[in-house]
Amino acid sequence: MNEASPPAGPASDRVRLRRVHHRGHYDRASLDAVLDAGQVCHLGFATAEGPYVIPTLYWREGDHVYFHGSSASRTLRGLADGLQVCLTVSLIDGLVLARSGFHCSVNYRAAMLFGHAELVTDAAEVTARMKTFVDGLVPGQWERLRPVTDQELKATKLLRLKIDEASAKIRTGGPLDDEEDYALPIWAGVVPMETRYGAPIPDPRNLAATPLPDAIAALQGQPVNPMPEGWEPPVDTHGAVKADPDA
Ligand SMILES: Cc1cc2nc3c(=O)[nH]c(=O)nc-3n(C[C@H](O)[C@H](O)[C@H](O)COP(=O)(O)OP(=O)(O)OC[C@H]3O[C@@H](n4cnc5c(N)ncnc54)[C@H](O)[C@@H]3O)c2cc1C
Repeated sequence: MNEASPPAGPASDRVRLRRVHHRGHYDRASLDAVLDAGQVCHLGFATAEGPYVIPTLYWREGDHVYFHGSSASRTLRGLADGLQVCLTVSLIDGLVLARSGFHCSVNYRAAMLFGHAELVTDAAEVTARMKTFVDGLVPGQWERLRPVTDQELKATKLLRLKIDEASAKIRTGGPLDDEEDYALPIWAGVVPMETRYGAPIPDPRNLAATPLPDAIAALQGQPVNPMPEGWEPPVDTHGAVKADPDA
């Protein structure tokens, strides 16, 4: 977003943040930054039996979030048949320890998208999108694997959801206490949290002398949900939330 352009507004009333609305962002840079940092989304949908919320891997390419699974998946079949979906991603960045339980919180990055998912049926496109997914796990991984078969493509359902009715909510910074509580001898502050890749564990059935690819070795110690390069989380003005729990 250039500095002169006004902040993007909500695309619909249901994505307009009411609670602590100054943490809401509707611009693609903020949405993409959250979506690109995560791996797992939750797909919420309503059925005649009641609501379901299903965790699934996802990835973003351009204006769509993609997710895939078995052709037999009840979730994917339901969404492909036109059920409306609410897709959420949430990443936790730190404990925010305030001087009262009421104002204790967490720093987080979250996104929520609504809409109808679309089934991707063209085999060449499914293959191309699956390559992006696999390479998103480990750079260059697709080329190291044996080629996908037609049978595997048939057994896979790929769906995509357009990023057009969406919101991001991002909390950064320290605690926000009631003014009188700053006089209390209570430690307050932030304890950062992050998930990092561990040391690769070879499959015992690896053929002898199969080398560990550099790209896989390079994952060790790296953060799993980094802030995307060149993107800084928006400055959290904290707004006027004194009377409310800090969420
Ligand atoms: C981190 C993570 C990533 C995943 N990524 C993928 C993915 O990319 N693709 C994919 O197809 N699947 C993925 N799964 C599995 C996914 O959550 C579903 O289990 C799977 O897609 C089957 O969906 P279904 O609608 O056919 O479930 P069904 O087997 O029809 O569900 C029947 C019932 O089983 C239970 N159930 C199903 N899934 C879960 C679950 N995850 N946890 C607890 N109970 C459950 C629920 O009670 C549900 O009502 C992932 C799971 C996790 C936790």
